[in-house]
Amino acid sequence: MNNSHTNLTSRRRWLALATAAIGAGLMPILGRADDDAESHDALDVEDHFGDSANTTFTLANTGLSANIVVVGGGTAGATAAKYLRLWGGAGVKVTLVEPNALYTSNIMSNMVLNGRRTVSSLDYNYNGLTTKYGVTLKQASLVSIDKGAKQISLSDGSSLAYDRLVLAPGIEFVDAYGLTQQDYEVRTPHAWQAGPQTALLATQLAGMSSSGVFVMTIPKSPYRCPPGPYERACLVADFLKTRAGGSTSKVIVLDENVEKVAGNPYSAIQAEVENFTQAFQVTHGGVIDYRSGVKSIQINPNTKVVTYLDAQNASQSIQAEVVNPIVPQRARGGGVGGWLSTAGLTNSKDSTGAADNRWCVVNVLSFESTASGAAGIHVLGDAASCGLPKAGHVANQEAKICADAIVRLLGGQQPDPAPVANSACFSPITASTASWLTAVYQYDSATQKLVVANNGGSTSGASPIEASAPSAENFKQMNTWFNTLMGDSFA
Ligand SMILES: Cc1cc2nc3c(=O)[nH]c(=O)nc-3n(C[C@H](O)[C@H](O)[C@H](O)COP(=O)(O)OP(=O)(O)OC[C@H]3O[C@@H](n4cnc5c(N)ncnc54)[C@H](O)[C@@H]3O)c2cc1C
Repeated sequence: MNNSHTNLTSRRRWLALATAAIGAGLMPILGRADDDAESHDALDVEDHFGDSANTTFTLANTGLSANIVVVGGGTAGATAAKYLRLWGGAGVKVTLVEPNALYTSNIMSNMVLNGRRTVSSLDYNYNGLTTKYGVTLKQASLVSIDKGAKQISLSDGSSLAYDRLVLAPGIEFVDAYGLTQQDYEVRTPHAWQAGPQTALLATQLAGMSSSGVFVMTIPKSPYRCPPGPYERACLVADFLKTRAGGSTSKVIVLDENVEKVAGNPYSAIQAEVENFTQAFQVTHGGVIDYRSGVKSIQINPNTKVVTYLDAQNASQSIQAEVVNPIVPQRARGGGVGGWLSTAGLTNSKDSTGAADNRWCVVNVLSFESTASGAAGIHVLGDAASCGLPKAGHVANQEAKICADAIVRLLGGQQPDPAPVANSACFSPITASTASWLTAVYQYDSATQKLVVANNGGSTSGASPIEASAPSAENFKQMNTWFNTLMGDSFA
């Protein structure tokens, strides 16, 4: 098989682009569904969406043949479907199972809350995957897996056989703090899956009085997008204090994560600790009130009264005007009776080593499930547990490692024994400035995990690097990074 070089070249090129915050390399967004001109003008990113010929890609004849089914057309699944065709060649048939015609990006969705984006400006379609790479789109949901027969059943009553199955269903939200799914949908939106709840939260925020209290909660890690809640706190505070007519409104952040440094509550912040500490204390000082180590949160969805135990176990109560509970999460389908747990694929443990079965543990060389009887089933993105953060950029990288491994396995080879992944994440701090966080992850044979690498390849004691300070230049680069990532995944 002669595609190893292509894989490495592509991966190196992507890593170089991403690590450098993608200063110039732009890809046309062929998969973009609704390029909202007004919001792009506001963001000064119109140039990144130029027209481009929608040419059909000529796939290589690798001599490989297989029938691969990918479930879930988010960042992870879309990227996997594309690269399985690109690297596997014409004989590798790929069917993407996804119930929705459009995918709404969670990345950048916090910008809907401050009016800088519309939800529809975050929509992507699957035309690029189908017309350019020949991915077959099946618009339906997976409802069950028959591992023995290597077959899945779909919501439209049909079934699909597979040689290998790639699952990338994302997350679902636990009923928590006394709230139900119905509360999330109509009263107290988590807005942690971009879409109608994002629009609802934006409307609630815009309707706040000039001296109201916005309460948001952050669950214990792991959760989707480690810096995301802190980014949201900053954008909400920025919106409230800069809006017309003035405002003395407050943002109270209740973080269930506990401080890592005794006496420093900000050390509980899960990503970009220095920049978010500065943002909470200085940039948005007096507006954001950050409280870590909280427990036993209860929210009344009607009265918006929030009660909890603080880090000293004292009972506290807040009368909120708007409540945004970012509730605990698990792999989608992973609840009791869910299709993923019924298939025996949720096998994670919590930080104490006890089984919590919230996520699907995978071998990071191939992203194949480690659950018993699950040979040939791979899990990607936020649903997977592999030591990497749950982030869209990471999901794109995981998909490429998985696609590469599947193609090698189909050709009788072993997966790459030393995969490398990159993560970059930009966080807006105000409506015009952003900070960033980046890391390169490499395989550590001792722990069999992908761990943060230092310059020079050592992995001991390394941690992600954050921007020295938020800036307008970072904000500009954020848009380039986002467009490039989504272009690489969907077009
Ligand atoms: C506010 C916010 C900001 C964020 N910002 C960033 C950021 O700046 N950078 C970053 O890297 N990440 C960011 N993220 C995280 C990122 O969005 C997620 O990590 C990413 O979306 C995970 O991709 P995924 O493909 O695993 O899941 P998803 O994107 O959720 O996609 C899952 C797909 O599976 C489909 N599906 C579900 N069940 C089924 C089924 N039974 N059958 C078929 N299909 C199914 C769904 O319809 C969906 O299309 C952010 C997240 C949020 C909420």
